[in-house]
Amino acid sequence: MTFVRQVGFQEMMARGERAVEGFPAELVYAGFSLGVVPAQKLAQTRPGARGAHLPRMRTQPAAAVRPHRTRALPRLRQPLRGEHLMRWVEQSPELPLQPVAALVGRDPVLARALDGIRREDGPVVAIATAAEDDALHHLAGHAHERGGLLLGEVFAEGDDVAGCRLVLITQAIPAMESEGTGISLRMGSAVWQQAQSRRGALERVVGWFHSHPGIGAFFSETDRRTQRAFFPHVYSVGWVVDPVYRESAIFLGAESTPPANVLYRVTGAGAMGSDGASRYGAGPTTSMPSTK
Ligand SMILES: [Zn+2]
Repeated sequence: MTFVRQVGFQEMMARGERAVEGFPAELVYAGFSLGVVPAQKLAQTRPGARGAHLPRMRTQPAAAVRPHRTRALPRLRQPLRGEHLMRWVEQSPELPLQPVAALVGRDPVLARALDGIRREDGPVVAIATAAEDDALHHLAGHAHERGGLLLGEVFAEGDDVAGCRLVLITQAIPAMESEGTGISLRMGSAVWQQAQSRRGALERVVGWFHSHPGIGAFFSETDRRTQRAFFPHVYSVGWVVDPVYRESAIFLGAESTPPANVLYRVTGAGAMGSDGASRYGAGPTTSMPSTK
């Protein structure tokens, strides 16, 4: 720390930024100890950033880290405040795309629903009941923001993700260690490990969900930045829920665009299958069909 004080914090930050000059945009930034700060800043502000790996922050309990950081690095706390800090990054870029035709055998009801939706309307987001229930259960009854990750499957026409027709959200993985206030949310790395361990062969992390208790289901500027930085793909889902006013909104892709069609499974239970009794309801993205 003596060295840092001699050099100055601004210079330390500038060194971190200079270190990546000339590198391609799509980077994952890793930082240890004080390096967490420039790494996090780069991950949040440098265009094309894919994520951040900040192991020190996540391996120490917040209570143990904070008093020390506050005394030693008073100025560094400022940019960390009030932001959604995603402290993990998706590591595997391979996406197990499935052909739309595969859906007919898996879930004929969903396949029929998809059939009735025009391609020009863009990717459809469908939320399985189990995922919806798990997410709402995690978010409901808390005055502070909570969140987690969404696992799902992606169905496309052709071999390219650009032909994405359907993002089927199959599981919601709650971030148990997240700390939220009324307006901000931090998620730790454990949720990422949870998602990895619960992920099936055809599933991947397709997005994130979080709550806005009592302030409405919308995407804040911070949410848009988070989406752009960590969930920039055609199939990337950002799902925000206001459990107090029972509002729900879905956003898709780097630009946080509301999809034209969101399908909620309104009956049927359990894993997705060829359950003939199950139905999907096309729900508006601003009201929640489920009242659990
Ligand atoms: Zn938010």
